[in-house]
Amino acid sequence: MSADQKNFSYTDLANSIEGFEENYANDINEKQYFGFPLESILKAEQRLYTPQESSIAYFSMEYGIAPSIYNSFNLQKPLSEANKFFQHEVFSNHWLCDYIFKIEIDKLLDIPIYGGGLGVLAGDTMKSVADLNFSLAGIGILWNKGYFKQNFWYKHGQVPEELKWDPNTYPGLVPLKNIITLDTKEGPIQLRLWKYYIYSFDKKNVVPLILLDSNLKSNKEYFRKLTDQLYRSDNPWWKIIQRTILGVGGMKALESLGYHVERHHLNEGHAAFAILEKYMKMKDKSSLDAIKKEFMFTCHTPVAAGHDRFNIQDVRNVLTNEYAKAAELFGKENQHSSQVSLTHICLNNTSHVNAVAQKHGEVMRFQFPKFADKIQAITNGVHAYTWLSQSFQNLFEKYKKTIGPWDKDPRCLTQVTELSKNKDFRKDLFTAHQENKKNLLELIRPWQLKEDTFTIGWARRIASYKRPALILHKIDRLIDLAREIGPIQIILAGKAHPNDNIGGAHIDEILDQIDELSYYKDIIRVLILENYDTYFGKLLTSSVDVWLNNPLPPFEASGTSGMKAILNGVLQMTTLDGWVVEAAEDNIGWIFGYQHQGGDIGTESNLRLDEDSDALYDTLEEAMKLYYKTIKKGKIDYSSPWIDKMIQCVHRGAFFNTHRMVKEYNEKMWKLGS
Ligand SMILES: *Cc1c(COP(=O)(O)O)cnc(C)c1O
Repeated sequence: MSADQKNFSYTDLANSIEGFEENYANDINEKQYFGFPLESILKAEQRLYTPQESSIAYFSMEYGIAPSIYNSFNLQKPLSEANKFFQHEVFSNHWLCDYIFKIEIDKLLDIPIYGGGLGVLAGDTMKSVADLNFSLAGIGILWNKGYFKQNFWYKHGQVPEELKWDPNTYPGLVPLKNIITLDTKEGPIQLRLWKYYIYSFDKKNVVPLILLDSNLKSNKEYFRKLTDQLYRSDNPWWKIIQRTILGVGGMKALESLGYHVERHHLNEGHAAFAILEKYMKMKDKSSLDAIKKEFMFTCHTPVAAGHDRFNIQDVRNVLTNEYAKAAELFGKENQHSSQVSLTHICLNNTSHVNAVAQKHGEVMRFQFPKFADKIQAITNGVHAYTWLSQSFQNLFEKYKKTIGPWDKDPRCLTQVTELSKNKDFRKDLFTAHQENKKNLLELIRPWQLKEDTFTIGWARRIASYKRPALILHKIDRLIDLAREIGPIQIILAGKAHPNDNIGGAHIDEILDQIDELSYYKDIIRVLILENYDTYFGKLLTSSVDVWLNNPLPPFEASGTSGMKAILNGVLQMTTLDGWVVEAAEDNIGWIFGYQHQGGDIGTESNLRLDEDSDALYDTLEEAMKLYYKTIKKGKIDYSSPWIDKMIQCVHRGAFFNTHRMVKEYNEKMWKLGS
């Protein structure tokens, strides 16, 4: 349609959807889109079609949108079983319970197109973009079989399984009539476009997310599986072709939709081939500055292995000759290299590059000195409205006079320190936390955890540098602490990439150590939950007393789970890395362990487990002493310094959120009006 002549209408929307009458007419009408205001959609689409409007496209391999905890769409018919949460098993040192009970969550399964923090950041970014009313379209992939489903087997460790869900009946997700074609060395691949709208917290604005899908009957059988599983393979052919789908396919998708997009933001190097597509479409190939102006790049990891590099021959096996040549032209780290680095395609051809925390900026400038001038640091954030528990939202509502409109603008949360001498507030704050803790313990009721017992949580991707088993490294020290100071509850969760043997070994180690602790279950209760996802992410980060973050510095570029925790007044026990470096002076918990001084980042092969676990146990001792002074036999001392720390946590949540981050993106990179 040509938007210059008319406005984008309900009819345009209905006409764009494949099988509208049969499958979607009950849920989409002239007023409502799966129970949400249709008007917000028409407004957003109109802006994307208008050339005079500055719009931007955001490319990401994964999106953690978390509809189970944020803006769930309504469906006229009952939710299909495939799109409900499955049962989660638990592995604990109270093993009798593990045999008998499972965790049941009676909710919509989160749309499973993410693997971890990168995707959650992309989802949170979309939400803040909608809240701030920028004109943006997200580009991603419809992973028909998600990332993977995790099972823990006794004596086997993690056993991965394909995850089953049903895009065709997922509330809010619709297939478009648009089908695009990618040319590859093995023939054309057709991709269907899907759409999912991400609404602002108040449902007034939306951001469309466009998802590409190769599961079409018209494709060769093995092409249909290309968009099955996120990060499914270490095989270069799969990896290159999936990145082609995202980058080249994403650009073609924007064209097919008729969106006028001025700028492209590549969230991580996966989408680098978008630059090739732009280049191929340029008539005058001598002026590469035109590309640079349009593209920006966020780099998410200092780990060298985290940057995609492919042999030129492998690239030639996938991309047609012209594209492969362009990949070579843009992606060689030096003249003699026989590899294409996606990071370098991005570094070479973007106007703005950002690292995801100040410390990461320093590391990145050290790693890529040639590009140091254009590397800025924009610290990650989380979407406050998504990650704030209900009890904390209620608390902020109650004190809104002092705090202000925290839901529209999380900067308001700085105001909580004004309430630090208010006895009622201190009590209400701690009570709100205890309410969260009760909700969590209710879900895992059979394991009999206690509300007034010191509870520490660790949940994230199981990667070596994150040191998942650090707290279990010397269980004798843990036992001593529990005997001398008071009981401990530890809740862990996380997925290891199925091809990452070291990650798998960490899980084995955790399971073994938990087993070792069976005899001590009356003073130490340890649980590891299967299938860490955004639902558990919110539950855990808002409900434990202390959030543990112990990556080996400086490998954690930012980390975001701690940001979810501070919003909910959960104290931090952390090494000095990522975002934490910017909060080191704040009274938000405890910092321990090895500190990176600058320069070379060292290697992950020396994880410093002995020294840093000692430091961790010393810090635990201090925290537990304070905890059991604060809460003694059910009596709570509301004047405790523990509660001052909780207040400081919330106070800093005013900064570590995606509202602030997206505004910085715009000021430093996008430069759009809103
Ligand atoms: C927040 C979140 C992450 C990211 O956590 P980090 O602290 O960055 O490791 C990963 N997975 C899920 C499910 C999350 O909710």
